[in-house]
Amino acid sequence: MFPKLKLTESRIREWYAAATAEQAAAVLRKPRCDYFDLLTLLSPAAVELLPEMRECAQRARRRYFGKTVTTYAPLYISNSCINGCKYCDFNTRHHFERKILTLEEISREADAVLALGLDSLLIVAGEDPKRAGLDYLCAVGELLRNRFSYLSLEVAPQEEAGYRRLFEAGYKGLTLFQETYNQELYKELHPSGPKRNYDFRVWSQLRAGRAGMRTLGMAFLLGLDEWRMEAASLGAHALYLQKECWQSKLQFAFPRITPVSDGFQPAHPVNDADLEQMMLAFRIVFPESGITISTREAPEFRDRMMICCADNMSAGSRVTPGGYAALADKDVGQFTLNDSRSVAEVEAAIRANGQEVVHKYWDSAL
Ligand code: SF4
Repeated sequence: MFPKLKLTESRIREWYAAATAEQAAAVLRKPRCDYFDLLTLLSPAAVELLPEMRECAQRARRRYFGKTVTTYAPLYISNSCINGCKYCDFNTRHHFERKILTLEEISREADAVLALGLDSLLIVAGEDPKRAGLDYLCAVGELLRNRFSYLSLEVAPQEEAGYRRLFEAGYKGLTLFQETYNQELYKELHPSGPKRNYDFRVWSQLRAGRAGMRTLGMAFLLGLDEWRMEAASLGAHALYLQKECWQSKLQFAFPRITPVSDGFQPAHPVNDADLEQMMLAFRIVFPESGITISTREAPEFRDRMMICCADNMSAGSRVTPGGYAALADKDVGQFTLNDSRSVAEVEAAIRANGQEVVHKYWDSAL
């Protein structure tokens, strides 16, 4: 559970079991929802209200984001990692040639992304503080800050001072998946490396918000534990951050585990209907927060979710260092892509669904 969650696991299970479709319908009529409303919308009883939830979520999305969908690219700058996360192909037990891109290579990658027409970049790296630590990440930020209108990062958790340095280097947001809020399971899935420290990870967004980061991305990895219990913790974590870091915008993601080479099997697979219910519930309860949908998901699902939930989509993604400028000989990606459409194809689909493509979050020149 999220450490600040006052409810016990059994109380949450009771709430889920007792919720009714009528209660869920009443939540959809409320102007503003609270934590218990979120639980009601996540409950099994709300499944029969998916069409109504879709309409309600679409109205909420329209109110705060209009028809806009922002596109971005993840740029993997390093797959070197000292952690042993059992569900990830970059984990330290896997033997393949690791790559940490040089600044010159990153510049070529950035050119390749800009040539695709994208202007928002998510820098991604494994955890390797000696070879690709804070100085390296700051140098990358300084290299790219004036070439993209929005720069964010998905890297190992940092101290608040570290986040402050990253912010000053040009990064304006971070994404950090808690993976699982179940602390026992967390220990089991992270047998080695600094990532074993659950507490340091779970308070990352708080430190980043205090350091000035404008967007705080959060998620758990879908498939590791029961999604309804994880979603209850994610919701509590988000409400806590909204209060503590009110200057920052929250950005949710709902990443499902995709196959990895050593055959890790998720114990609690999440199907499309489960995922949709969860995304709709979060869109309704957190209407002003962002929702990202990545290329882990298939085109048809992404296209549906962009209309009622997601305001942010990756496009044309490469999940290996050097993937855009063909700098890598071998393609060891962090996860399997399920949407291999080009940027142009994704953006054409956004327009075909009646939405507008946005490349810039904001313009620092204004
Ligand atoms: S999930 Fe992140 S920290 Fe864990 S092995 Fe993969 S790259 Fe490293």
